[in-house]
Amino acid sequence: MHEWALAEAVVTSVVKAAEAGGLKKITRVRIRMGELQQIEPDVFQFVVKEVSQPQTPLLKQATIEFETEPAVLKCRACTHEWPFAEALQGLSEEQAEAIHFIPEVAHVYLRCPRCDSPDFEFVKGRGVWVESVEGV
Ligand SMILES: [Zn+2]
Repeated sequence: MHEWALAEAVVTSVVKAAEAGGLKKITRVRIRMGELQQIEPDVFQFVVKEVSQPQTPLLKQATIEFETEPAVLKCRACTHEWPFAEALQGLSEEQAEAIHFIPEVAHVYLRCPRCDSPDFEFVKGRGVWVESVEGV
């Protein structure tokens, strides 16, 4: 269950940010996650609350908001960048799902739309991070 590990990491950095800012109560946390991260916001929100309950009463009343960062691909050969959503349009549902699950699989199905190179990387759309912490 990687949601739990991620939630613990998020709570740790939120608490650190709150302590650094001298907050006694956190009211709002904004979390940004990559499109490829495959986390259900509802599940993650629940897990964050569960993880934060015992050790961090300061997070109890916080509203947790999620933003998704769209995935972007970048060609290593010609430096062209294109949105993953666009790349997905030429794929079947199974192929798209495979890439979401293991982004490295993208190299099997996709080519750079400009120079046809299979040598590209995801420059956005992976990872989870804390965008902002607000409180009093
Ligand atoms: Zn290219």
